[in-house]
Amino acid sequence: MVSTVPVNPPRSRQLPSTGLLDARQRPLRDLRISVTDRCNFRCVYCMPKELFGRDYQFLERNELLTFEEIERVARVSVSLGVRKLRITGGEPLLRRGIENLIAKLAALRTPDGEHVDLALTTNGSALPVKAMALREAGLQRVTVSVDSLKEDRFQAINDVKFSLSRVLDGIVAAEHAGLGPVKINAVIKRGVNDDEVLALAEHFRGTGRTLRFIEYMDVGSSNGWEMGDVVPSAEILRTINEAHPLEPLEPSHPGETAKRWRYIDGCGEIGLISSVTGAFCGTCTRARISVEGKLFTCLFATKGTDLRSLLRGGADDEALAAALTGLWNERDDRYSELRSRLSTESSPTRQRIEMSYIGG
Ligand code: SAM
Ligand code: SF4
Ligand code: SF4
Repeated sequence: MVSTVPVNPPRSRQLPSTGLLDARQRPLRDLRISVTDRCNFRCVYCMPKELFGRDYQFLERNELLTFEEIERVARVSVSLGVRKLRITGGEPLLRRGIENLIAKLAALRTPDGEHVDLALTTNGSALPVKAMALREAGLQRVTVSVDSLKEDRFQAINDVKFSLSRVLDGIVAAEHAGLGPVKINAVIKRGVNDDEVLALAEHFRGTGRTLRFIEYMDVGSSNGWEMGDVVPSAEILRTINEAHPLEPLEPSHPGETAKRWRYIDGCGEIGLISSVTGAFCGTCTRARISVEGKLFTCLFATKGTDLRSLLRGGADDEALAAALTGLWNERDDRYSELRSRLSTESSPTRQRIEMSYIGG
C-alpha cells in the first residue's frame, strides 16, 4: 500500500546550516535513486531465481520515473539539503541511456553553487563498456560488489555464471576512466563466504581500493534471512586485525554508514557496515526513491509515498518541496535500532520491500 503525500505538511523544522530535520533531528543529506528493478545477476541473497524467474513481472517502462522526473526530484532534494546522490537498482547500468541521467545530475548545484557528490553502485558487469561514458557524463565514483574471489563461488552467488574476472576487469576499466578510487562492497554470509574475509582483505590491501564488509541484512522478504546467517563486524575485524593490525579512523563525514579502519602499516583502509550488530539509525540521513517514484525514508520501510503521481499531476517545484519537507519532518524510522534492541532470533514478520526495488 502506498501512503499519500500529506495535504498540509507540517511547518518545516529547518535550521539554516543543516536543512531539513526529521522527528529525531536527523538532517536530509543523501538520496539513493533506484533506476531499474531489473538485474542481469540473480544473487542468491538478493534476487533468488525461484522468486525472480522467467515469469517475474518487472515494471513496465512507463511506470519508471523518466530521467527528467528523477532530475526534478534530485534538484528539489538538493535545494532542501541533499549533498550526496547515489544511483543504484537493480543493476543501474542496465537502464538504457544511464549516462544521460548522470549528465543531468552532475549539472546540479547546491544553493551555494557547490557540486553534489555523485556515485553509483554496480555489480561491475558492464563497466568494461560503460566506464568511460559514465566518467565523461560526470560520474565521480563507483562502488562495485565483489562477494568472493573464487571463480566457482562467485558464479554460484550471482547464479548466472557471470565470471569474476570480467568484474575485476570492470574495476580496472573504472579506474582507467577516472572513476577511482573504487570502493568494493562484500556481503558476508555465514557458511557461504565467511572463510574468505582475510583473502578479500589481502586482495584489496595496498591497491588504493577500499573494501567494505557489509553484514547480511534482513532486507526484503525473499532471501530467507536468519540471524545465524550474519557474520558480525567484530568477528571480521578480529580476523583481519590478527594478520594485519588495524586502527580506527574518524568518519569522513557525519552519517557515514561504514566504520573506517586503517592498516597500521599504511596499506590503506577497510570499512565495516554493521547494519545488524551496530545499528546506525541515530545518524541516518538517507532517503530512497524507488524505480517508480515512491519515496522511502528507511531501507526497511513497509510503504513508500507516491511522488510520481505528484510529478505527473502537474505539481510545481514548491509543491514537490512541500511534500518532501512534510515527509522528512515526519520521519521517525529506526528499524535497525529496534531490531537489535529486541535482539530477535529471526526477522520480524513484516512485509518489507525488496532491495532490488528500493535500491541498496
Ligand atoms: N546491482 C548493484 C550491486 O549489486 O552492486 C546495485 C544494487 S545492490 C541491491 C546494492 C548493494 O546491496 C550490493 O552491494 C549488494 O551486495 C547489497 N545487498 C543486496 N542484498 C543485501 C542483503 N540482504 N544484505 C546486505 N547487503 C545486500
Ligand atoms: Fe543484482 Fe545487485 Fe541484487 Fe546482485 S545484489 S541481484 S547484482 S541488484
Ligand atoms: Fe536508516 Fe532505516 Fe537503516 Fe536505520 S534501518 S540506518 S533508519 S535506513
